[in-house]
Amino acid sequence: MLNKEIEVMFNKVEENQLKEKPDQDKLGFGVHFTDHMFVMHWNRELGWHKAEICPYQNFSLDPAAMVFHYGQEIFEGLKAYRAENDQILLFRPQDNLERMNQSALRMCMPRLPVEGVLKAMKALVYLDRAWVPDNAGATLYIRPTMIATEPALGLRPSEEYIFFIIMSPVGAYYAEGFNPVKIYVEDSYVRAVPGGVGEAKTGGNYAASVKALTEAQEKGYTQVLWLDAVERKYIEEVGTSNIFLVIGDEIITPPLKGTILPGITRDSVLKLAQDHGYKTIERAVTIDEVVQASETGDLKEIFSTGTAAVISPVGELSYQDKVIRINNGKSGELSTFFFNELQALQRGEREDNHNWLVRVG
Ligand SMILES: *Cc1c(COP(=O)(O)O)cnc(C)c1O
Repeated sequence: MLNKEIEVMFNKVEENQLKEKPDQDKLGFGVHFTDHMFVMHWNRELGWHKAEICPYQNFSLDPAAMVFHYGQEIFEGLKAYRAENDQILLFRPQDNLERMNQSALRMCMPRLPVEGVLKAMKALVYLDRAWVPDNAGATLYIRPTMIATEPALGLRPSEEYIFFIIMSPVGAYYAEGFNPVKIYVEDSYVRAVPGGVGEAKTGGNYAASVKALTEAQEKGYTQVLWLDAVERKYIEEVGTSNIFLVIGDEIITPPLKGTILPGITRDSVLKLAQDHGYKTIERAVTIDEVVQASETGDLKEIFSTGTAAVISPVGELSYQDKVIRINNGKSGELSTFFFNELQALQRGEREDNHNWLVRVG
């Protein structure tokens, strides 16, 4: 069933009803949406069915739809990039859809036919290709989402779902762009517990994190660094990004053991580092080790990785009564290297040795 072809109906917006495109220099993140969306339905009897590329529009849902009450929802985030020759490229889209299937398993939701959905996604991006920005750093953000739609208030897996893909032209994720951000090390709220849903991209994780984020922002920080929920000791991730630390000559990132989202950017940085002969290690790092490494001068760089911001250097950490300055508050050598390298790859300016790029059209 997972290899099943999806038959997609096309219901296009009339030429004279197309939206006006936003100013490319003021895109923000996820505030403008393209002309079309992809929608597909699931129920037990038919499996995935009624797949359609249609005008971007509201849903009409029963107020009892299960997603509204118990949050059975999963999503993904990836981008389409405009290459030099106007070719549109997707970066590792199969990995996003396979990760969505992992999230689906954890949340008792139906799995997607990866190849069929990828084909539909490519058709959608191609149809709305005029929305892929050509400004430096600007891209088309793609948001696949699945929600539980059966109207029922008893707690159990829904028997009906909608999967949809919407798309938004976006600028840089942080106002700082590729400049170091100040991060608050969160030692009271936690993001994910062992045995919980931390490794699934499911809405509840993000709803639960907003309080810590707003409190950190009120104190002047851009994001929070999450510590493990059991001992509040081990470093986990930064907001909705994975974290890397350069200590001595090692590039370190915490291991994936259930509470951390398995980032595709994280994996790409690990592979690029290996390609270029850098020493990488996935191991647990305590916040005390970071404080110590900062005092001895061994802490060279910290950066976070994610589709939205690509690479974001960390210039300062605030932990309890300590302020840790990293690389004098400047973007480090490796952060800059990975940022440039990844961006060049995603725009088709490097040899695609890992077969990460998928052409649209
Ligand atoms: C999406 C996400 C990431 C980054 O994953 P990418 O595949 O690199 O975009 C990291 N942490 C969390 C919590 C996330 O939701």
